[in-house]
Amino acid sequence: MLKGDLPSPSNPQAGCPFHTRCPAVMDQCKTEMPMLSDMSEQHQVFCHLYDSKT
Ligand code: SF4
Repeated sequence: MLKGDLPSPSNPQAGCPFHTRCPAVMDQCKTEMPMLSDMSEQHQVFCHLYDSKT
């Protein structure tokens, strides 16, 4: 079960929309939106943990 607060759609937060509930959150996640990274032809990831793997 994930812990933390759900983001409010009427008051969007900075950074990754999952950062208040992510167990792997980093400082960067709180201020910067991650970019979409291609892992393969049919697999894409939206996460700072994979930014350097593109
Ligand atoms: S970018 Fe990745 S590690 Fe950071 S909060 Fe979002 S899902 Fe978690």
